Amino acid sequence: MAEARRLYPDFDVTRSWALPDMPVLPGDEALDSYLCRVGFTTTPLEYTRRAYANAAGDDMRYISAQVAREEWADTSAGIGDFRILDGYDALLQDLARGLPIRLNTPVERLEWGVGGARAYTANEVFEADRAVITLPLGVLQAGSVRFVPELPPDKLTAINGLRMGPAIKLVYQFDQPVLPPGILALYSAGAPPMWWSPSFGQDTSKTVVTAFATGSYARDLLALGEAGALDAALDTLRGELKRRDLQPIQAHLANWVDDPYSRGGYSVVPPGQIGARAMLAQPVDNRLFWAGEATAKNAWGATVHGAYASGQRAAREIISTF
Ligand SMILES: Cc1cc2nc3c(=O)[nH]c(=O)nc-3n(C[C@H](O)[C@H](O)[C@H](O)COP(=O)(O)OP(=O)(O)OC[C@H]3O[C@@H](n4cnc5c(N)ncnc54)[C@H](O)[C@@H]3O)c2cc1C
Repeated sequence: MAEARRLYPDFDVTRSWALPDMPVLPGDEALDSYLCRVGFTTTPLEYTRRAYANAAGDDMRYISAQVAREEWADTSAGIGDFRILDGYDALLQDLARGLPIRLNTPVERLEWGVGGARAYTANEVFEADRAVITLPLGVLQAGSVRFVPELPPDKLTAINGLRMGPAIKLVYQFDQPVLPPGILALYSAGAPPMWWSPSFGQDTSKTVVTAFATGSYARDLLALGEAGALDAALDTLRGELKRRDLQPIQAHLANWVDDPYSRGGYSVVPPGQIGARAMLAQPVDNRLFWAGEATAKNAWGATVHGAYASGQRAAREIISTF
């Protein structure tokens, strides 16, 4: 941090502690318009775009300034980022212990009403008194799971009021160290803007370098096709490291936008939609309950801890109906 501050005088200006206490416009506004009113010039705006908006899931014009400010002020999940050393699998294994989890069983239709809830897959029907819907927002928006009867209007308003941010990762494996010693991550002014090495601190002769892109960064790269996106992103890395000779031994594009079971990265609250996540979280007729990152409180949306807490909230709601 200290090094980043020394090298980039604009570094701190994107952090909440550097923002003046100026409220957003009544009814909310887009993050870029708010930051312009606060006094951001081109350089800090560009920095915010690659360092904050990219991680938040979409372009600044699609991000609610009110929600961004809430998120910056919220420290209830702890300060900073945490990494599960054994990988996220470890968390899921623990949560799933003893439960009859069925993988590769897509639900095609969900019937619900006074008699209970029935989830139809290609060959089976699962019946229960109540259902907890944890489908990704992108899947709900695409309508690929049919609700019978149709969901009530306020639920559809919430689903369509949010955005599913487009997210991709580009992963390269090199047979040599690539990032300068001691450097774990870098932000580029090009696309993709965010790079890091999961090999950092690992005892391996090979180096994996990952790039993460959302919003226009992701849309523009995807428009080049898989090979084109991988080439264009590699070119950005070569430029940043000033190593035109850099050649990976393997490259992979992880594309959540075109994955039918996610249809994007995670939810984004657009300007004026600050109540949409809470509305999405509301149970329907004490029959359908809602969990998943898009139903978390705004400051925790789009995160694993938000998804986790939303499941606990849905469980409490169901218990309170007994
Ligand atoms: C690239 C990327 C990086 C991220 N990095 C971080 C991070 O560093 N920290 C953090 O906290 N969060 C991060 N997130 C966000 C985090 O992963 C999500 O918020 C979280 O996984 C959401 O959990 P969920 O249960 O709501 O949804 P999901 O994990 O998406 O689970 C929904 C499940 O529904 C399944 N499904 C879809 N359609 C059907 C169907 N028809 N029938 C049955 N099942 C279906 C899907 O296969 C999926 O398993 C990241 C997300 C992405 C995409």
